[in-house]
Amino acid sequence: MTAIIDRITGSTSTPTFDSLNPANGDVVGTYPIHSAEDVDAAVARARGEVAWWQGLGFDGRAVLLQQWKGVITRRIAQLTEIVHRETGKPHGDAQLEIALAIDHLDWAAKHAKKVLGRHKVPSGLLMSNQASSVAYHPLGVVGIIGPWNYPVFTPMGSIIYALAAGNPVVFKPSEYTPGVGAWLADTLSEVVHGRPVFQVVTGLGDTGHALCVSDIDKLAFTGSGATGRKVMAACATNLTPVIIEAGGKDSMIVDEDADLAAAAEATLWSGIANAGQTCIGTERVYVHEKVFDAFMRELTTQAGEVRAGADGDAKIGPITMPSQLDVIKSHLDDAVAKGATVVLGGPDAVGERFVQPTILTHVPEDSTEMTEETFGPTLAVNPVTSMDEAIELANGTRYGLAGAVFAKKNGMAIAERIRSGMTSINAVSAYAGVPSLPFGGVGDSGFGRIHGPDGLKEFTYAKAITRQRFKPLLALTTFSRDAKTDARAAKLIGILHGGKSTLPKR
Ligand code: NAD
Repeated sequence: MTAIIDRITGSTSTPTFDSLNPANGDVVGTYPIHSAEDVDAAVARARGEVAWWQGLGFDGRAVLLQQWKGVITRRIAQLTEIVHRETGKPHGDAQLEIALAIDHLDWAAKHAKKVLGRHKVPSGLLMSNQASSVAYHPLGVVGIIGPWNYPVFTPMGSIIYALAAGNPVVFKPSEYTPGVGAWLADTLSEVVHGRPVFQVVTGLGDTGHALCVSDIDKLAFTGSGATGRKVMAACATNLTPVIIEAGGKDSMIVDEDADLAAAAEATLWSGIANAGQTCIGTERVYVHEKVFDAFMRELTTQAGEVRAGADGDAKIGPITMPSQLDVIKSHLDDAVAKGATVVLGGPDAVGERFVQPTILTHVPEDSTEMTEETFGPTLAVNPVTSMDEAIELANGTRYGLAGAVFAKKNGMAIAERIRSGMTSINAVSAYAGVPSLPFGGVGDSGFGRIHGPDGLKEFTYAKAITRQRFKPLLALTTFSRDAKTDARAAKLIGILHGGKSTLPKR
């Protein structure tokens, strides 16, 4: 193997691993496997940048982040090609996720000051002599661990927001997409003239573990729930706070008054695009029985156009992580063994690198196709007698990431009752493209939020300050407080909070 110069250590003898094109097995690039010492050194370098990066203030950082945005935008074709080669996804899909990340970059750069800068809050009657304010200060150095399925959009949801909030970042991309991570770090490095405010360490799980136990101030993890548990346990060593963005088993609910053609188009896209390797992709579909047959006709007709392959006409690419092929096959086998009906594809649709679109109906709720994240181009579509039943089944999962509803009259009411972090009505995944909305889940889908004001605040700590404007009418925090003052305080609190009217009416 040709020796590579490690951008983190400067050495040519660091052990390496290959990034492969999942469509054909070609080596796309060779990257260092960074050791715990390498990770610690990267974190130490990031720590050395804290004062400079924080000292730039919101305005100074916004200028640099906007410049970075310009570089990414002007070279979008270059990054698209790397994403395509490392994940196998079609160029159009790769470009779409980059475009969304660019929009988030713009939003975070423009809004960090307003969201996180110091602002006044009311002091309340008791403390009316105080001027109160809160600001959100950066934590220090943030570690970020990312997955491969959306190697730009997903980690950038943490990277951008952590940087905009004032934290240098050390990023460990997935071992399936190290080239994407390296490209992102290199382009920001150009803008900041080589200052290590955003470094990439590459490697396998051990490198990720090393980042968890390094001297970071917060760790943002996106990946599987199984790894998320290990990450949380490792971060506990130093009491390092974590964000966990894990998997999902999202549902699409279709009511009887829905636009069925639109619902079928959205379901197909959400479940099959990116070969089903989407954390917020539809895996389960609950359709009102009155429109079930009509919906299935639409869905299967539209699905006929979609094919997996490596050629330019194929709408979906390969399964990026080879081990997932067995998982997809086992879910389909289990569903069919338990009585599901195969409408399109089926267990034989799972090939050596590609999985053809698969649609099942009447899938038993206890089959793994309904209970575990499949992460393949499969849809399980079941009829329901009512929207109450649809909601109960949609919520009958330990995951709680996102979901969608197609309905004319009751869309909002149904969406409110779905236990998940995000729901889109009459569209799919729309919330991911709205930079001011938080992104994240509940239950086994994790906790914490990226994107929007919540996503900025995740990478900060709240700093409250009060400034006494004049002496208090009642001096309570002094040893010279006397019985008269206590009596007045009791009277005041009685007036403020003792009224019966505050009790809820029966
Ligand atoms: P994964 O858990 O296998 O790996 C994620 C990352 O963790 C990789 O960088 C990996 O190298 C690293 N890692 C592995 N072992 C580690 C350890 N012991 N300590 C620290 N880091 C370690 O996940 P994946 O296969 O890359 O991604 C697919 C999963 O990600 C799916 O479950 C998908 O739903 C989920 N995902 C969630 C979101 C979200 O926002 N909720 C977004 C995208 C993907």
